[in-house]
Amino acid sequence: MGILRKTLLYDNGISASLLDTTDIVNEAISLHGLSPLAAAGLGRTLTACAFMASCMKSREDRLSVTINGDGVGGRIVVAADAELHVRGCIDNPDAVLPLREDGKLNVGGLVGKGTMTVVRSVGMKEPYVGKCRLKSGEIAEDFAAYYAISEQQPTGMALGVRIGKDGKCIGAGGLVLQPLPDCPEESISGAEALLSQFSDVSGLIARGGIEGVWRDFFAGNDYEEYRPEYRCNCSREYIDGVLVALGEKELRETLAQEGKIEVGCQFCNRKYVYGEEDVERLIAGLSGERNRAEEGRPEGTDNGRNE
Ligand SMILES: [Zn+2]
Repeated sequence: MGILRKTLLYDNGISASLLDTTDIVNEAISLHGLSPLAAAGLGRTLTACAFMASCMKSREDRLSVTINGDGVGGRIVVAADAELHVRGCIDNPDAVLPLREDGKLNVGGLVGKGTMTVVRSVGMKEPYVGKCRLKSGEIAEDFAAYYAISEQQPTGMALGVRIGKDGKCIGAGGLVLQPLPDCPEESISGAEALLSQFSDVSGLIARGGIEGVWRDFFAGNDYEEYRPEYRCNCSREYIDGVLVALGEKELRETLAQEGKIEVGCQFCNRKYVYGEEDVERLIAGLSGERNRAEEGRPEGTDNGRNE
């Protein structure tokens, strides 16, 4: 499990969240067989999403983030919910690039240029979709830009993932600083100075864990503690829905070719297998729905005008 601590700094003007997501990144590495570079990109995104999840107001809220750049890693997708369960995947888990000149993993090259899309489902309302251009592909800057542009929330963010020689994560986490309304200018300057000391946040976590970092930077502050975790929420019902969306023709064709339909969850690799009977059950449900839709269609509509 990860650890997330929230506190207030600088006369309660700045909200600060410190995260240790080492366990979460290791779970992602073992599920997806990530290269160190892919682990850094996906791990930073998982860390940012664990923070975002901790800001959700109600139990049903959830979010997904898609980072779609032209770098060697392809797309990164992470989903999270209000219980602080996060999960994610990357198109190319084997991605490799030479280290940067400063010795860090080249996450900017992994991600490349492109866009970040955040979908937040809040209660029963239409999901809120925010989309913005990636700033550097380094992910922390990209999330900070997203907050500034799409949520009008100034945000300072440091994210980091350190991978050991054996390919396992030895330290991952982040620091997120956000000014509260009417925060005085001195508090913001203080937050900026603090953030600059977290340019190697994964190194700080690797050396001292969250306790060590807390002792060095935030000793004596009250805090609330949360336990984010890598956990998938896929289910047979969810996969049913994905298959139904493909439509009868595609389902029948795949069944005829393969003798069964096998679907792997992209976030946890769990396999769902559908035999002939299962597929017939889905199709029966589909035509039931179609009949209901046709019965319910009022006469004289201009359905099909655009076909
Ligand atoms: Zn799953």
